Amino acid sequence: MSLYIILMGVQGAGKGEQAKFIHERYGIPHVSTGDLFRAMKTREDELAKRVQQIMAEGRLVDDATTNEVVKDRLSQPDAQGGVIFDGYPRTPNQAAWLENYLAEMGARIDAVLLLELDLYTAFKRAFGRVSSASGKTYNIYFNRDGLRQANFEDHPEKAYPPRLIAVDAETGETLARRPDDASADAILKRIDTFVATTQPLIDYFDAKNLVKRIPADQSIEAVSAAIEKAIQETK
Ligand code: AMP
Repeated sequence: MSLYIILMGVQGAGKGEQAKFIHERYGIPHVSTGDLFRAMKTREDELAKRVQQIMAEGRLVDDATTNEVVKDRLSQPDAQGGVIFDGYPRTPNQAAWLENYLAEMGARIDAVLLLELDLYTAFKRAFGRVSSASGKTYNIYFNRDGLRQANFEDHPEKAYPPRLIAVDAETGETLARRPDDASADAILKRIDTFVATTQPLIDYFDAKNLVKRIPADQSIEAVSAAIEKAIQETK
């Protein structure tokens, strides 16, 4: 039996972690359209170049192109038992296309998992996150154990916000923010965009009774357990 899950949540709600959990628990791949588009970076064809241009401008790729890329991904052998969608659908048009496409294959969207997190916490999860080149991650607001130092330091040119300098106590590695988390403005803009673009989708899926709301301000394990329960309920 197939399992098609749509994972939604503001940045910082823990979608990446939970996609990993769902993948391990149910054996279906994590399909992020953002990742699929980023992977086109090395391609030289017209479509790939157009996608790079759109992403660089922070706009949404058009629905037809997006659906085509999703269709291609869904035809891969590892996706035959279902997938976890992340960052897709982004518009009601994409949602309607996906429903039709799955219906033609005798499948359906089984659940829309909405990881709910208040927006201030979402901001701090993104703005406070620092990681090392080797992949260790901390948060200056929520997860400071293991940090030797976490100071704000003025940029030489006084750009705002100040740089966050953090050091891993164990390895001595310098930790850094992801470039897209380094600007408070950019994080706020992403949160605003999420709220504005997600609400119509939530309304769309609520009307079909597909949305499962999962409180995301709890431990990773507790969120995973709630997800497992929500998925069981769809069976
Ligand atoms: P993400 O990593 O999900 O934030 O996606 C990065 C960028 O890829 C977005 O800013 C869009 O330009 C594009 N993108 C990702 N998913 C979609 C989608 N479902 N529809 C349109 N554009 C998308």
